[in-house]
Amino acid sequence: MLKGKGVSNGIGIGNAIILENDKIEVTQFKIENPKKEVEFFYTAFNKVIEETKELINKLTGTEQEIMQAYLTILEDPTLISETLSMIENEQYNAGYATEIGFNKIAQVFKSMEDSYMAARAADIEDMKNRVLAKIVGKELVDLGKIQPNTIIIAKELTTSDTAKLNFKNVSGIITELGGKTSHVSIMARTHEIPAILGIDNIKEKFKNNDYIAMNGNTGEIYVNPTEEVVNNFKELMIKMNNEKLDLEKYKSDKTVTTDNYKVELVANIGVPEDSNIAIENTAEGIGLFRSEFLYMDSETLPTEEEQFVAYKKVAENMNGKPVIIRTLDVGGDKDIKYLNLEKEDNPFLGYRAIRISLDNQELFKTQLRALLRASHFGKVYIMLPMISSIEELRQAKEIIEKVKEELEYKNIEFDKDLKVGIMIEIPSAALMAKALAEECDFFSIGTNDLIQYTTAVERGNSKIEKLYTKYHPAVIKLIKMAIDGAHSAGKWCGMCGEAAGDSLYIPLILGLGLDEFSMNPSKILRARKIISNLSYKDCKTLANKVLELNTAIEVEDLLIKFNKAKIAD
Ligand code: PEP
Ligand code: MG
Repeated sequence: MLKGKGVSNGIGIGNAIILENDKIEVTQFKIENPKKEVEFFYTAFNKVIEETKELINKLTGTEQEIMQAYLTILEDPTLISETLSMIENEQYNAGYATEIGFNKIAQVFKSMEDSYMAARAADIEDMKNRVLAKIVGKELVDLGKIQPNTIIIAKELTTSDTAKLNFKNVSGIITELGGKTSHVSIMARTHEIPAILGIDNIKEKFKNNDYIAMNGNTGEIYVNPTEEVVNNFKELMIKMNNEKLDLEKYKSDKTVTTDNYKVELVANIGVPEDSNIAIENTAEGIGLFRSEFLYMDSETLPTEEEQFVAYKKVAENMNGKPVIIRTLDVGGDKDIKYLNLEKEDNPFLGYRAIRISLDNQELFKTQLRALLRASHFGKVYIMLPMISSIEELRQAKEIIEKVKEELEYKNIEFDKDLKVGIMIEIPSAALMAKALAEECDFFSIGTNDLIQYTTAVERGNSKIEKLYTKYHPAVIKLIKMAIDGAHSAGKWCGMCGEAAGDSLYIPLILGLGLDEFSMNPSKILRARKIISNLSYKDCKTLANKVLELNTAIEVEDLLIKFNKAKIAD
C-alpha cells in the first residue's frame, strides 16, 4: 500500500495511465552518419504527420479546420529546414537538431506582428514535442481522449493539462507534486474526482494499465490489489454515496442559522459547464468564475465574442442569481503560452493577474466588453484579482468606465448598475480594507493566496506544506479586518478561497461576520447542513475566543473542540 496526501475525497478504482507530458530532455552529441540520422528523423516526423491526418479524418467543423491549419505548417518544408541542416551540415544527432531547429522556427513565429501567426509558436512547440517523443520512444497521452475509468498518474499536472482533461473518464488523480490549493486539487474537488498528491518517485511505483484502488479521504493507494481490498473499496464507495444522498435534504434556495441569521452559499467554477454542477448542488449563485480557464483552454487569445458567449451562458444558466466573474488571473502557477510571459524568479510576486490586465489594456478591455455585454443577460458582477493598492482599483475602474462609455456610444446594452468588487488576497489590501471598501461594491477574500502572502509560504510547495495554514492567527486577523472594513462602508464581504468550504473553519468565519461563502460546488450541501445547525450567537462567541489566541495549533484545537460539541454527526 502507498500513502500520499488525500486532497479530493472519494474512492477511485480503475486503470493507470502514466502521463509523461513533461519536457522531453534530449542529449546533444555529434554523429558520424548524417544520412542515417536524417532517415531516423524522417521516420519520427512522418509518423507525426500520419497521426495528424488520421486525427483530421475523425474531426469535424472548427476542430477539423484548426488541425488542418496545423497540418499545413507541419507539411511546409521550411519547418524542418533548420533541423535537417543541423544534422547534415553540423552532424548533430536528430533529437538535439529537432530541439534547436524547431525552437528557431517557433521564435520566428513568436516575433510576428500578427497575433494569430505569433500564437502558432505554441503549435510548433507542440509539434516539436510530438516529434521528440517519437525520437526518444516516449508515449504522449492525449488528455481529451482517455478511456473511461482511468486513474491519471503524473509527476505534476499543470493547470493547462487539467483544463484539457475529459473529467467524465477520470476515476482518480495521483501526483508527486502539488498542494491542497493547487489548481489540480481544486478542479478535482469540483468534479468530485478523488485525488492524492505527494507520492515520491511516482514513475517508479506505477506502470501503465496497473489496476488501482485509491481513497482520496485517507490518501491510501493499492496497486493491483487483492479481490478483498477491491471489495472493501467498493463497499466504502457505496457508503460514501449514501452519505451524499443524505445531504440531498439540504438542497434549498437559502441558508439560515438556527437563530435566523442568513448567509449566502455560492459556488466556485472554472468553466461555464461547471455552473450545471453548481445548480445541481443548489448554489445560491456563482461566487467565483475563474475566467482564466477560458484563456488556458485555448491555443490563442479568446476573442470578445468567445468570451461573451461563455459569460452569457453562465449568466443565463444561473437565471438571475449573482454571477461573480473574476477578470484574468494568470501568472503565478498559471501559465498561458501564447501570452509569452517571461520566466520569473518569484512568479507569485511578479507579473500576475490585475498587473497584467492594467499593463495590457487592449486585452483587459476585450474581456471587460465581453463581461459588460453578458451583464445584460443576468446578474453579472466583475471581480478584480490581486488588488494590492487603491491606485490599482482606481485604474481598473477608470478602464471599466471607459469601456462602458464606448458601449453606450454604440448603443450596446449592459447592466448600468453592474457591481465591481475586489479580491482580498494580499495583506496590503486587507490592511487597507476600509478605504478600499469605500471605492468598490464588495469583497471576496482569497485565502489560498492570502495565506501564502501573509506567512511567506508558497501555496503549492509540498516541502513547506505544514507551514501553510489557515489557522495562523495573523491570517484570521486579516480576515477580520477585511470583513469589518467592508461592513464599515456598508458593503458585503465574501470568501472564495478554499477555507470558505472547510467544515472546521465555517463556524469561525460565520462568527467573524462573513456574508457570503463561495466554495467548490461539491461542498455546498455539507456547508448548508453545518450552517443550518449552528447558532450565529455561538459562532460569534467562538470567533471572539479565537481572536485571543496566538498560535495556529491553539486555533485548530479550539475549532476541533467546537466541531465535536456542535457539529459532528
Ligand atoms: C484565492 O487566492 O484564494 C483564490 C480564490 O484565487 P486562486 O485560487 O484562483 O488564486
Ligand atoms: Mg488567488
